[in-house]
Amino acid sequence: MPGFELWSDAERKELMDVVESGVLMRYGFDGARNGHWKAKELEEAICKHFGSKHAQLLSSGTAALTTAMAALGIGAGDEVIMPSFTFVASFEAVLSTGAVPVLVDVDETLTLNPDAVRAAITGKTKCIMPVHMCGSMADMDALKSICKEHNLLLLEDACQSIGGTYKGKALGTIGDAGTFSFDYVKTMTCGEGGVVMTNSEEVYIKSDAFTDHGHDHKGVDRGADLHPFLGYNFRISELHAAVGLAQVKRLDEFLAIQKKNQTALKDILSTIPQISFRKVPDPTGDSCTFLSWFLPTEALTKAAVAEMKEQGIMAGSFYWFDNNWHYIRKWDHLKKASTLYPLFDAQREGLLRLATQDFSASDAVMSRCVSTSISLLWTEQQVKGKGEKMAAAIKKVLACQEVLS
Ligand SMILES: *Cc1c(COP(=O)(O)O)cnc(C)c1O
Repeated sequence: MPGFELWSDAERKELMDVVESGVLMRYGFDGARNGHWKAKELEEAICKHFGSKHAQLLSSGTAALTTAMAALGIGAGDEVIMPSFTFVASFEAVLSTGAVPVLVDVDETLTLNPDAVRAAITGKTKCIMPVHMCGSMADMDALKSICKEHNLLLLEDACQSIGGTYKGKALGTIGDAGTFSFDYVKTMTCGEGGVVMTNSEEVYIKSDAFTDHGHDHKGVDRGADLHPFLGYNFRISELHAAVGLAQVKRLDEFLAIQKKNQTALKDILSTIPQISFRKVPDPTGDSCTFLSWFLPTEALTKAAVAEMKEQGIMAGSFYWFDNNWHYIRKWDHLKKASTLYPLFDAQREGLLRLATQDFSASDAVMSRCVSTSISLLWTEQQVKGKGEKMAAAIKKVLACQEVLS
């Protein structure tokens, strides 16, 4: 799954260019930087690699979502429809703009169920934000047509699916804007970092300024730049960008290993008829960072997870239903609106409503789902060994259940 597993001389070399010049900032200091513009180069590489017209690097994937929303004009009181299964960053970003996160059910794609999205649309809805979880994608055609029909913005949280595609287009480049995270555990890493991708020049220019206190970046003298609107500091450093520059050049290598290892693991688990797999709207576009699989019932899944834990083979596999960070069930801080500061009324009310909202359709999916992360380091022998141990543990649980029933 993560690029950090294959740390190499390529990352060291890019970093040393920056360390030797001592220019750690992405803007200015033209004379001292020995021609090294790592952030700029990485933005160009991202545009080329993923087929986006524009890319704005920043300090995190969370900042990327916030920036994209700001640049799209999403703010106070606007409703953003997002899935009940994601990383907390997705709703943190929505709240940071003054907007209201409206959480809806996921289906076996592990992200937005288009029917649940339709049912959640109100006069205040401004944006639909699919989250391409665990390396694979949302049903983008269905979501695009809902956006068109209701005149809504489409923002892709593609933080976890770098290198995935849908009908030939890179995830993150299909909506009005899309984001990647380059935090330490993502498919390619900067240590910390993120990017906003967009084909709209306007969204890009706004993102560029927003991440740097509103600087219009039109001149050569930072001090003389104008500030057409308010911004923040979400800048990436040259050190972080240097790491990403080495990693983006290796991304195809990472993805090929993921594909090979995921296929090998899936082949083994497929021999168990009771196992089914996550629905992938465009199977050729899965970035294969995870293999997500289901058992027929919550009880069987819990028993299999317990058995895998017992046998010491649950490391690297995730039972999201019980996870504190990825699923609505454990987000009590969100459902109680536990902020350090007062919220707008509409935001507070929206969050408190989540505590009583019916997420049984999401529960029915997530309580049966396990995602196994795909390592870049596994040898063929190791994937086989891991798969066979997992299969044996699952079969043991299924056999027990047959005896009981
Ligand atoms: C990692 C992640 C983010 C946030 O990225 P950071 O760089 O850690 O801020 C947002 N959304 C999802 C789905 C993620 O997995």
